[in-house]
Amino acid sequence: MSRNRLTTTAGAPVADNQNSQTAGPQGPVLLQDYQLLEKLAHQNRERIPERVVHANGWGARGTFTVTGDISRYTRADLFQGLGRQTEVIARFSNVAGEQGAADAERDVRGFAVKFYTDEGNWDLVGNNTPVFFVRDPYKFPDFIRSQKRHPRTNRRSNTAQWDFWSLSPESLHQVTILMSDRGLPQTPMNMNGYGSHTFSLWNDQGERFWVKFHFKTRQGHAFFTDEEAKAVIGEDRESYQKALFGAIDAGQFPKWTLYIQVMSQAEAERADFDPFDLTKVWPHGDYPLIEVGELELNRNVDNYFTEIEQLAFSPSNIVPGIGHSPDKMLQARVFAYADAHRYRLGTHYEALPVNAPKAPVAHYHKDGAMNFFGHKTGNPDAFYEPNSFGGPVEDPSVKEPPLPLAGDGDRHDHRLGNDDVSQPRALFELFDTAERERLCANIANAMDGVPDEIVARQLALFDRVHADYGDGVRQALAARGRSARKAAE
Ligand code: NDP
Repeated sequence: MSRNRLTTTAGAPVADNQNSQTAGPQGPVLLQDYQLLEKLAHQNRERIPERVVHANGWGARGTFTVTGDISRYTRADLFQGLGRQTEVIARFSNVAGEQGAADAERDVRGFAVKFYTDEGNWDLVGNNTPVFFVRDPYKFPDFIRSQKRHPRTNRRSNTAQWDFWSLSPESLHQVTILMSDRGLPQTPMNMNGYGSHTFSLWNDQGERFWVKFHFKTRQGHAFFTDEEAKAVIGEDRESYQKALFGAIDAGQFPKWTLYIQVMSQAEAERADFDPFDLTKVWPHGDYPLIEVGELELNRNVDNYFTEIEQLAFSPSNIVPGIGHSPDKMLQARVFAYADAHRYRLGTHYEALPVNAPKAPVAHYHKDGAMNFFGHKTGNPDAFYEPNSFGGPVEDPSVKEPPLPLAGDGDRHDHRLGNDDVSQPRALFELFDTAERERLCANIANAMDGVPDEIVARQLALFDRVHADYGDGVRQALAARGRSARKAAE
């Protein structure tokens, strides 16, 4: 086999890749050994800042195929025509653990899909849960801090976690999902994905509809108990990577069905809950699932770093026919995600091959670190806009219909009058006896070492959801040798 000649990064051939250049066989090494210097310097620069959240992830490439006609709701090009296919790349992740954290930890999972559409990239960046812990982005950094390492002990803290949750009743719904069976899926294939936020679709007539996106697993839900997960982690800390990569390598391509729920503006005004509140679902009975398509992951990446670590999703990536909504959390993410990537990957992160659209790109951004793509206007004389030199121009035909907004610019108390318990109650009532027991046991496990007053405050919240919920956790705590009486007793 003829092999390529090894070169330096500057392309000069390398004569010896085994031995440093030294003054005699014992050394010392010579500073002029630019090959050695280059090797060492590159190794020092192999790491980039990891994501503050969702650092530990697994992903693959695949295809999205339209199976249901939603053209009455959206003009989005990728949804036009049954059988229409769009190339995608997906990334799943744990939230709290850093890179190298064990995969099979109880945590929410990120579920993000980049659709390389003919009108630009659409990123649906959600989770495996339909809701979230907080509804106001002002709380997000505090929430994440409570999940991360304690500044003094440098260990994750059950106390911080339950302190924050017990002081934030809006977290009840997501806490219940996290502590239930679906809080610890066996593999990324065995979970649903949700856009979580309310988004919008708009059609050629300029009508806007509010929507939720749901990916339902075709592999079935499968979970680990806390005990099982300990054994899995003891055997293999990379169990998700092994399962996803292995399945695709073996030709067993995981699939999900994409559905939407749709709500008109009139329905949104009538709803007895806030449809833009990220701690709430839209009940299926009132807003039925409408089938849209099939997501299939069918190709492993060749290079984890360039294709998964540098893969950058942002809810700011929408395409004509898809829009945002008044959801406060969504709006903050529209800023924060792209900002995070500019910080960790650089200004031109969307020009990296994995992030670059398959659709033509034409913009006037110029210069900046690592600009390797030159002009994106088609003509060096067209470097500002408007210009007379044939540079790209706006296209009013893709103008979004206006958002129906009205308001007073105040800091409204997001907790005032909000019902934080009915939806977690509906979920608790879906669980059979064994699921309830596992839920309560998982909570009791996670309360290990948490001070009594914090446990009591959280139990009072569970009591408000369902009497059996609070009592179930008390029993699970008692089984672990902790007594936690009802406040009224
Ligand atoms: P439905 O009975 O119509 O829907 C229940 C939903 O819950 C289904 O999406 C189902 O997902 C999911 N589900 C079923 N069993 C479990 C479980 N053991 N753990 C977690 N999720 C489960 O009822 P509603 O739409 O009125 O919702 C009732 C409650 O269900 C909500 O308060 C919410 O907590 C939860 N839920 C609702 C969703 C929604 O978008 N409406 C989505 C997910 C959960 P699947 O079909 O994949 O099994």
